[in-house]
Amino acid sequence: MNTNTCRSCGAVLGRTVFDLGLVPLANEYPASEQECETEQRFPLKVRLCEQCWLLQLEEAVPPSRLFSDYAYFSSYSDTWMSHAKQFVHDSRERWHLDERSLVVEVASNDGYLLRHFVALGIPVLGIDPAENVVPTALAAGVPTEVGFFGLDLAERLSEQGVQADLVVANNVFAHVPDTNDFADGFARVLAPEGVLSIEFPELTTMLLGTQFDQIYHEHVFYFSLLSCETILRRKGLRVIDVERLTTHGGSLRLIACHDSAGHREEVSVNLKREEELRLGLAGTDAYDAFASAANRRAASVSSFLERAATDGKRVVGYGAAAKGNTLLNYCGIRTDFLDYTVDRSPYKQGKFLPGTHIPIFHPDRIRETRPDYVLILPWNFKDEVMTQMAYISEWGGRFVVPIPEVRIYP
Ligand SMILES: [Zn+2]
Repeated sequence: MNTNTCRSCGAVLGRTVFDLGLVPLANEYPASEQECETEQRFPLKVRLCEQCWLLQLEEAVPPSRLFSDYAYFSSYSDTWMSHAKQFVHDSRERWHLDERSLVVEVASNDGYLLRHFVALGIPVLGIDPAENVVPTALAAGVPTEVGFFGLDLAERLSEQGVQADLVVANNVFAHVPDTNDFADGFARVLAPEGVLSIEFPELTTMLLGTQFDQIYHEHVFYFSLLSCETILRRKGLRVIDVERLTTHGGSLRLIACHDSAGHREEVSVNLKREEELRLGLAGTDAYDAFASAANRRAASVSSFLERAATDGKRVVGYGAAAKGNTLLNYCGIRTDFLDYTVDRSPYKQGKFLPGTHIPIFHPDRIRETRPDYVLILPWNFKDEVMTQMAYISEWGGRFVVPIPEVRIYP
């Protein structure tokens, strides 16, 4: 799925902002040395549409390849779980949801979010293409439709009478290459007065914070309000509220509804539009500055690790998430600099990080091997990780956070 044209507006794509070359998929963990040897690599190149200012991957890996056996079980992160629960309680109050309502979540995963609506007696329907997460969702009382969301699936659901009072799409809208079809699906399943809640990593934060590790194959789009709103508007949906969230290092939550719905637009929407224009997101300079800063940042991570190796220090990683994989691959870090990494997900333990082939162990390994430094790859969870692993101070171990800049704690 290589394209030289914008997936939103069809214009010919302009400049290349970032090019990581050929990289394996960030969420496919080789299970053996042989699988490491045969792993597939795909281009990872980010380009900018200079018509609608949508930052996007030039080549998209088909979603069927990426999401049909998904390794990321949402329920393994405490921070993410409490975020989900808070969202459910706030939504019930704000949109007056009750036992006559219907909440549909696209990319409902193992039911990490919808289970909280179920607990409040609010009917739900989950949609997810990854069959391996469905049994967990069903066990949590979350009916789940297995499939890829888009106009076809939305029409089928609509014929069955599905009309959602709330559609939730957290961290999925930026993942699906056929964005116009996906947005058509939203418009189809949304009840006339229903609301759509979309979350995605915020472009402003990514650019200003030099978070180049947000770039991986699953993230086809790097949305701003401006570029996302353009897609929704084309489908008769208007944004009525924007919130900034701290999840994923800085995310935006957009609330949208049908043009004809009675909801009024909050002042937050215009404030955000103005902020994005002021920061130059509808121009090329902001993107060029990001690319240069990212190269400097990657160099500083590499030089920290080289220095540690020269000094005879042992460094291990914490986390085996997609973000970390981009960082390690871009910086060219292998087992010569990082002995191993650990992850709480049993699904990943015993496997290897894609590309770098660094082995993944249970977190207890850190207590057994007493490394000098623990490099926190999912730096957006650094507080949670430092609390969980506070015991490394017993042997003088220290934490290293790579982004927004290399920092050592304590
Ligand atoms: Zn465009």
